[in-house]
Amino acid sequence: MTTTAFIGLGNMGIPMAANLIKAGHEVHGFDLVATNLEKAEASGVKPAASAAAAIERAEVVITMLPAGKHVLSVYEDIAPKATRGTLFIDSSTIDVDSSRKAHDIAAEHGLLSIDAPVSGGVGGAEAGTLTFMAGGSEAAFVKAEPILQPMAGRVVHCGDGGAGQAAKICNNMILGISMIGVGEAFVLAEKLGLSHQALFDVASTSSGQCWSLTTYCPVPGPVPTSPANRDYQPGFAAALMLKDLRLAQEAAQNNGAATPLGAEAAQLYALFETMGNGDKDFSAIINFLRGAAGK
Ligand code: NAD
Repeated sequence: MTTTAFIGLGNMGIPMAANLIKAGHEVHGFDLVATNLEKAEASGVKPAASAAAAIERAEVVITMLPAGKHVLSVYEDIAPKATRGTLFIDSSTIDVDSSRKAHDIAAEHGLLSIDAPVSGGVGGAEAGTLTFMAGGSEAAFVKAEPILQPMAGRVVHCGDGGAGQAAKICNNMILGISMIGVGEAFVLAEKLGLSHQALFDVASTSSGQCWSLTTYCPVPGPVPTSPANRDYQPGFAAALMLKDLRLAQEAAQNNGAATPLGAEAAQLYALFETMGNGDKDFSAIINFLRGAAGK
């Protein structure tokens, strides 16, 4: 049993904390929103009056916050108050530069740290099947892995501090681009009178095969579990895809990588969100592409 502090108990944080509790850990939690803290308490989290109070006896501190600025402000607040050797795990999806700064703050105070963003969404958080992409020292990773396991389907050590965030945005850039590619192919097939099922049957066993097609097919029918079959309820919301594509663009610009298709994908998802679709599953971009095709 490990005494853990969980800071940021939103859509992801609450079910993640619940799985830690089910695995026998004691979890002290804090969130700025009182109703979220109440919901977390109903799942067994011991509510704290502040982040500093939540970490008082913690051997491990997990953060699950919206963006880099929130993570840095929480780290600046609590890192000086934490016992040396405490393990800090940041599972938020944030920019690589802020993630590296968070590791630096932890190191200045003698703490172990891991960035460990996740894929798998709220469903994966509830089921305890998230994929964690971890960045940090071997010593920190070895300590973090058993803590992450009750929340995880898979835990991958990607490299030094920030490598987990780097892996996450590179993966999601592939995903955003591939979903647009698959969507365009279905729109073209419709114009050519080719059925959705026929395109699926061919492409899913040919060189067009990819996750966006075979797991998350953006038209209803061929993959009954894909969000297209439930009016594009997420799943993975388009607003979160846009967030990740923007993080990828920021990283590309800061590090001199040419990512023209990533840039185009970010622009298309920005337009899609502006049109009021941010809360739809990201595969709904196919409807926007149909409009662009003149339907
Ligand atoms: P959310 O907005 O539901 O939760 C974030 C929580 O952090 C909120 O409850 C907010 O009140 C709290 N918070 C903000 N600043 C705080 C502070 N200073 N102290 C304490 N609490 C604070 O977001 P979410 O969907 O749970 O996502 C969390 C992170 O996980 C994000 O970085 C997101 O990109 C990432 N993520 C989300 C999903 C998903 O499907 N929702 C999937 C993968 C990754």
